Amino acid sequence: MGIVVQKFGGTSVADAQKIKNVADAVIREKLNGNKVIVVVSAMGHTTDNLIKLSKEITTTPSEREMDMLLSTGEQISMSLLAMAINEKGHKAVSLNAMQVGIMTEHNHGRARILEIKQQRVKKHLDNDEIIIIAGFQGITDDGEITTLGRGGSDTSAVALAAAFNADRCDIYSDVEGVYTTDPRVVPTAQKLKVISYEEMLELARVGANVLHPRSVETAKLFGVPMRVRSSFKLDDLGTLIIGVDEMELHKPVTGVACDSSQVRIVICDVEDRPGNASKLFTLLANKGLSVDMIIQSYARSVGNTNDIAFTIDSADLVKFSEVTEEIKKIVNPSNIFIDEDIAKVSIVGAGMIDRPGIAAEMFETLAKIGVNIKMISTSEIKISCLVEKNHAKECIIALCRTFDLDGAAVADVKGDLPD
Ligand code: ASP
Ligand code: MG
Repeated sequence: MGIVVQKFGGTSVADAQKIKNVADAVIREKLNGNKVIVVVSAMGHTTDNLIKLSKEITTTPSEREMDMLLSTGEQISMSLLAMAINEKGHKAVSLNAMQVGIMTEHNHGRARILEIKQQRVKKHLDNDEIIIIAGFQGITDDGEITTLGRGGSDTSAVALAAAFNADRCDIYSDVEGVYTTDPRVVPTAQKLKVISYEEMLELARVGANVLHPRSVETAKLFGVPMRVRSSFKLDDLGTLIIGVDEMELHKPVTGVACDSSQVRIVICDVEDRPGNASKLFTLLANKGLSVDMIIQSYARSVGNTNDIAFTIDSADLVKFSEVTEEIKKIVNPSNIFIDEDIAKVSIVGAGMIDRPGIAAEMFETLAKIGVNIKMISTSEIKISCLVEKNHAKECIIALCRTFDLDGAAVADVKGDLPD
């Protein structure tokens, strides 16, 4: 008998009726002949509401107490779901991270899972019980409760699937799968039957808020097949996420994503000599600022200086403002220019490897609609262009047309689709 991990997000367990529906979805999986481990998120907006509540008490809560507070959300939904399953005549037991032994680093608010103990879960599986586990939380070796970062129950689910060698990990939410682009922007966007871990990771990083990126990294590392599917349409298999080598690639580009939460910073006229970039980015790293696109311009013949431009998350602007004086001191720029009116539009596709001309096609598409590109960055399977915010939507629409992403689904699995 195989093990299946099912994860249900906040919208799927938002009220009592929805919890009862989830109970049906769990029982159905059990009746298919599987052993079932379920991971739940907090109900609806519980986590947001708890954060709001804490802010009414203090603006500077300790990270430890925040974890104590936020970890309660998942414990509400796990016990209610166990009750709902019991009520329908099946054996279920809820367990929190401490009871399971989901061991994490000692890092409140963003802990990584180090190990998952086998004993307790195995005992209940052997007893033929359905196990409901609180997502998002973990425990340190000295008994402190931690959380994995917002959206972290996806990662709890995949880590459990890896630890118990599950056949697959199904992530249920209110979306029906992964789309070629945001269907709110392009209504004809297609739901993908399959996407690779690599592509999903790139899409997750450039603004497709479907999955917690670390869950995809973990799935890739341990080869756990994931499915993104809707808890409101149980017959729909959603999107399967697997290794790129298991896929048949038909098109160079799989998806278009947009991130409008970044700002561009230009450090003007930095003297062109060894050590300046190192000093600058070490300072930013020490401040905990993660930098995304980086461009250094060609050195000017007069004055021997160049501009260094990069992007950071707009939420980090305050932190950045705290180091501007220091930057002026260490690299002596003529100006520091901040541009908030930007969006990063990216095309992603494993099929672009070894296929020249995809970048040119992207730039041509933007040129044809008269959009100026402010910055470009590329990786093996992604090309990103920075454009003005108010042009982002037309860029996405045009790129979908160029790369045929508002037509049929683009990739297929080699062999049969696992169900
Ligand atoms: N409840 C947590 C959050 O809202 C974790 C999760 O939903 O994955 O971020
Ligand atoms: Mg979530």
